[in-house]
Amino acid sequence: MTQVLGGFAALNLHPNILAAVIATGYEEPSAIQLQSIPVILEGHDMIGQAQTGTGKTAAFALPILSRIDPTKRQPQALILAPTRELALQVATAFETYAKQMPGLNVIAVYGGAPMGPQLKAIRNGAQVVVATPGRLVDHLRRDEKVLSTIQHLVLDEADEMLKLGFMDDLEVIFKAMPETRQTVLFSATLPHSIRAIAEKHLRDPKHVRIETKTQTVTAIEQAHLLVHADQKHAAVLRLLEVEEFDALIAFVRTKQATLDLAAVLEARGYKAAALNGDIAQNQRERVIESLKDGRLDIVVATDVAARGLDVPRITHVMNVDMPYDPESYVHRIGRTGRAGRTGRALLLVTPRERRMLQVIERVTGQKVTEVRLPDGQQVLDARIKKLTSSLAPLVADAEASHGELLDRLTAQIGCTPRALAAALLRKATNGQALTLAEVEREQPLVPTSSPRERSERSERSDRGDSRERRAPVPLAEGRARCRTALGARDGIAAKNLLGAILNEGGLIREAIGRIQVRESFSLVELPEDGLESLLSKLKDTRVGGKPLKLRRYRED
Ligand code: ADP
Ligand code: MG
Repeated sequence: MTQVLGGFAALNLHPNILAAVIATGYEEPSAIQLQSIPVILEGHDMIGQAQTGTGKTAAFALPILSRIDPTKRQPQALILAPTRELALQVATAFETYAKQMPGLNVIAVYGGAPMGPQLKAIRNGAQVVVATPGRLVDHLRRDEKVLSTIQHLVLDEADEMLKLGFMDDLEVIFKAMPETRQTVLFSATLPHSIRAIAEKHLRDPKHVRIETKTQTVTAIEQAHLLVHADQKHAAVLRLLEVEEFDALIAFVRTKQATLDLAAVLEARGYKAAALNGDIAQNQRERVIESLKDGRLDIVVATDVAARGLDVPRITHVMNVDMPYDPESYVHRIGRTGRAGRTGRALLLVTPRERRMLQVIERVTGQKVTEVRLPDGQQVLDARIKKLTSSLAPLVADAEASHGELLDRLTAQIGCTPRALAAALLRKATNGQALTLAEVEREQPLVPTSSPRERSERSERSDRGDSRERRAPVPLAEGRARCRTALGARDGIAAKNLLGAILNEGGLIREAIGRIQVRESFSLVELPEDGLESLLSKLKDTRVGGKPLKLRRYRED
């Protein structure tokens, strides 16, 4: 365990820089950091090659900051980045790592902002200048001495800079700096043009190259979205509406979670099943076979249960719960993108799990781009798109076969073809929400208590003394308790009630609280808001062949 602290501590960084790094929560240097930091600290020129997300910024920022003299109020390090966004990112990183270094200032210099204040900040003694090449050349035109004190130059994402046409600007910048400076070049790729620059402007550079560990990942498009822990099911349902998947595997952490999510998906009409370690081997094989041949489209699995699963149909991997470590992430997403196809991996990240996301990005050497939860409009668009593509092929010859029937029916009913078509659509879409207002009502992201609160609450009521046990379980805010006369003796289980209410009530799983099935009745917690209309929607619902007859329930 000493190694954990030893990692950065053994690298000879300036103590104040080391302290700031530890304060940011980094535990160990990444591979590129481990190899670059000593080289840069020793003052060598260097060419570093590594993929995005491997931690290149700290690889040059930490040693350079360690070598800057904050008491000298003049530019000492220049970092060139291809875009304004990247320049700002790098500048922010420098500021973070320099937090415990009094007197050290960082200035970002990029186009689109007034030049005056930028130049003033440089002259006022910012020791670190992070710039895009174009704007920096503008400054050089005003003041050709502005870079005359630079001792460390970094070209970050050099290949990108060349792609953006900054070659000539770079030449101007090189000439404006002392030849004795240290030059470090980072690039994901080393095309000929980069080698030529290195040959011309670097002195006896050392090469540091980090191979991407996991090539399998490259065929997979990775995205993440931030979501609160208690809204995961709602998020999954929305994502499924807009993602165009063939077969999908969803990963969760517990056996219970496989069952819960599979039930929610089934209730929504997806062909879904759970796969976990409790399920007998032959049953597991059946699930996998069904996924292969299309009888199932979604499998909700734990890591253990999905080990070795190889189904070429899988286009999507959804990490509903965060994997425990980057290796299992790589394993999971390797279930898609098989046999040279591209796959898509989605990762739900709760606010507390952001650190793990960074670790995953670093280890896989890939950015996991952030996407937003689809909104009601996107869900609606996706539904209409599906409807369109399912109906379009039917139109061609339908009139020949059913045109006469249509005439007869419209005449008999005394309605327009439009009215009849609308009625048929309503029937065919099974009451699915197909207007924005309906979709939004159907899928509100209801703030609910966290799962931990929920389980603590049920533990309290299960374990308490008899008096406590009789006391009603407190209702979450905004919830109403409802009762049905259906219970265990009618062969009813909680998931039957859940399924019926989800389907017929058009609710999301998160809108429904505890379901308690007793011998001769059951209690269900439903949203207070809109309860009356929900109950009237459910008034003819039957569960297990018997009328549900859900009513608001009041103690006493
Ligand atoms: P690159 O420039 O190689 O694409 P970045 O420097 O932007 O990568 O780093 C990617 C992410 O990894 C950042 O969020 C950064 O804060 C984080 N990171 C870098 N080094 C470490 C480390 N040693 N431990 C944990 N996180 C790190
Ligand atoms: Mg970078």
